[in-house]
Amino acid sequence: MTTQETIELFDKYVIANYGRLPRVITKGRGSYLYDADDNEILDMFPGWAVSGIGHCHPKVVEAIRAQAGELLHIDNTFYAEPQGKLAKMLSERAFGGKCFFCNSGAEAVEAALKLARLCTAEDKYKYITAEGSFHGRTFAAVTATAQPKYHEGFLPLVPGFKYVPFNDIESLEKTFDDEVAAIMVEPIQGEGGINIATPEYLSKIRELCDANGAIMILDEVQTGIGRTGKWFGYQHYDVEPDIMTMAKTLGGGVAIGAIMAKDEIAQKLAPGKHASTFGGNSLSCSAAIAVLEAVEEDNMLENANKMGQYAREKLNALAAKYPVIDHVRGIGLMIGVQLTKPGSKIVDDCLSKGLRINCTHDTVIRFMPPMNVTAGQIDKAIEILDEVLSEN
Ligand SMILES: *Cc1c(COP(=O)(O)O)cnc(C)c1O
Repeated sequence: MTTQETIELFDKYVIANYGRLPRVITKGRGSYLYDADDNEILDMFPGWAVSGIGHCHPKVVEAIRAQAGELLHIDNTFYAEPQGKLAKMLSERAFGGKCFFCNSGAEAVEAALKLARLCTAEDKYKYITAEGSFHGRTFAAVTATAQPKYHEGFLPLVPGFKYVPFNDIESLEKTFDDEVAAIMVEPIQGEGGINIATPEYLSKIRELCDANGAIMILDEVQTGIGRTGKWFGYQHYDVEPDIMTMAKTLGGGVAIGAIMAKDEIAQKLAPGKHASTFGGNSLSCSAAIAVLEAVEEDNMLENANKMGQYAREKLNALAAKYPVIDHVRGIGLMIGVQLTKPGSKIVDDCLSKGLRINCTHDTVIRFMPPMNVTAGQIDKAIEILDEVLSEN
């Protein structure tokens, strides 16, 4: 099928709820994408952070092939080894909690929000989330997403949500009361433009929750599984959440989401309280196990730190050269380039020269290469960005 023919199929049969680029992607390998017109694209924003260890990592592909030959899905009426093994691996790499599996980030957020209600006093029903956050598109997740543009057309939303400016301790203390069941934030806001939580802010959330019997939820859907150079974003801080969400990179390209909760909290999710038909299926869990193994075997946490620093140095050099770059911020390979003007044309121009990056909140370029990116690939990306900036 030609590119045009595929686009026509979409025009006729696929709901047009995404603004798509006129490219048909046929293949992905590591840091590269290939389209139907034989173009190679250097992918520095792979799958919106889903393909965090690169496209079609051989270990993940092999694990999927092997599992597909044995068992794809078994409902949660039964036990199956991959789900248990994955939960153990995640628990050992985080705060020793227990896991519940689902299929996406928004579902993980829903599970976290429901569990927070179950394990707090009955009169607690409110949630506090931060402006600029992104938690997904299902009804409670989009309500938690404190950005008016995502709420338009959907009012009234789920009741009980209060919004506070991110990193503003005073507003948090003012808004918090006895009826709050949970405070949920991202350790680093991703879609919101790579906004990093201050240590004081996360400590204050911990303190308020501890003092009042509320639950601290960290949404690690984008920061988790090594993106920041540690397994989870919270590990850069001196706090642990009560519940944490995961998805995106977890499945290495296969749909999977999860929450992890401290043991005493996890116990409240008793039979009948929550469920997911596909959740924890053997295929997605086997893929996720392979992702965690690959991250370790290939030293990707270390690489994310090293390459993150390298990329930030290179981007800072561009900032010194082009006033359109205000500054560069980020941790590990979660990098935002703050521009002084809208960045969509820069992103489009980069794509025509074979580089895929992303622009969020109008003026922030997200530079989030796979965790096994090489210095040479970063050099190439910077070279293209340099060329584009010189023309913009
Ligand atoms: C992407 C994202 C979500 C939503 O995940 P989906 O899989 O699209 O539902 C939730 N939280 C954060 C922090 C995200 O980046």
